[in-house]
Amino acid sequence: MKKTVAFHTLGCKLNFAESSDLGRKFVENGYELVDFKTVADVYVINTCTVTTLAEKKCRTAIRQAIRQNPNAKIAVVGCFSQVSPDEIAKIEGVNYVLGNADKHRLLEYLNDDNTTQTDVSTSLNSRSLSGVEGNGTNFVVAYSADDRTRTFLKIQDGCDYFCTYCAIPHARGRNRNDSIANTEKIVEKIAKSDTKEIVLTGVNIGEFGKSTNETFFQLIQTLDQIQGIERYRISSIEPNLISDEIIDFVTNSRAFLPHFHIPLQSGSNKILQLMKRRYTRELFAERVQKIKTAMPHAFIAADVIVGFPGETDEDFEDMYQFIESLPLAFLHVFPYSERPNTPAINLPEKVSAEVKKQRSERLHELSEKKHADFCKNHRLNPSKVLWEADNHDGWLYGFTENYIRVRKPFDQSSVNKIEEF
Ligand code: SF4
Repeated sequence: MKKTVAFHTLGCKLNFAESSDLGRKFVENGYELVDFKTVADVYVINTCTVTTLAEKKCRTAIRQAIRQNPNAKIAVVGCFSQVSPDEIAKIEGVNYVLGNADKHRLLEYLNDDNTTQTDVSTSLNSRSLSGVEGNGTNFVVAYSADDRTRTFLKIQDGCDYFCTYCAIPHARGRNRNDSIANTEKIVEKIAKSDTKEIVLTGVNIGEFGKSTNETFFQLIQTLDQIQGIERYRISSIEPNLISDEIIDFVTNSRAFLPHFHIPLQSGSNKILQLMKRRYTRELFAERVQKIKTAMPHAFIAADVIVGFPGETDEDFEDMYQFIESLPLAFLHVFPYSERPNTPAINLPEKVSAEVKKQRSERLHELSEKKHADFCKNHRLNPSKVLWEADNHDGWLYGFTENYIRVRKPFDQSSVNKIEEF
């Protein structure tokens, strides 16, 4: 009887790539992947620590796994485990608490199962933090393969920016990446599968290359040459790292799509300074305009944090008008969430939960309006659509190049195909 393993993943695309990669290792070692809502021999919760709510969801998933099978092995891995290992280790029933530098080694811990107490390993120590170990980098490769249509490919990890509100550098260590040559080999391997689209993901991917003396621009030039991958999306890139050469390259490339996700975080320069972000709102607007001039139908989404300490009603109104004036297609809105060991936690003039809620709602409304306008005004006819695999009540869904979700009556022959529509 095969042993069973179930995964529950929270957080970003990077976490999903790492869970999928680890899942493949379990299957290669004779396990059967089962749904997290069912009874399993091993449960893996790949955690997130970006907000208080994310941590709450992690605890809920841990309790759910323990309830479903009290005899199961429970492994809690990833960012929350990295920053709060002791808190998680205290949860009755948890067997393994592995940080980001160790989670890919979970099977070794399981196969060496002669321990009774909770195994805690968050060895994101100074050496791995600095990214120098053995062959010059401790980058752990990962890519997702659960979805036939697209693959999340981890190209970079960690961050050296230390924005004042952010726990990620503490959870994921210093900026590091694999070499372009190794990344190329992985993409060539993925190109032999059914996958048509790769989403390049990481923590601060514009900083790709720092640990190998290469650049993100060089990487995308290399990947664009690889036959067999029809489309690439850049998951998220800092505004100060979107160079003219990257914009010009994407505009004229074979496979990089007109789709950008750019963290703005605040539309107030006063707040951007308190966040220790590395740009002004003027630079952000100028980059957005540069992209829209080169690619008028480009889909640009932005992250925005509301209710950061010091954000007055006037600051918010000013930010609202600034964002309203920009040709953005979607806003990811986050109420500011205090993170332990981050400087922002000690900033004065905290904003109440009620005010954060009101400001979030207004930006969500603005985002809905902007998205509806974008889909109406930038739906190219025809567009090239990559159809997905699932039959949703008789409908087949897909995304255009500029990230507009479309559907048509389910047609098996179109599954995982790029067609004009
Ligand atoms: S750039 Fe700033 S917000 Fe983004 S991961 Fe790094 S520290 Fe966090």
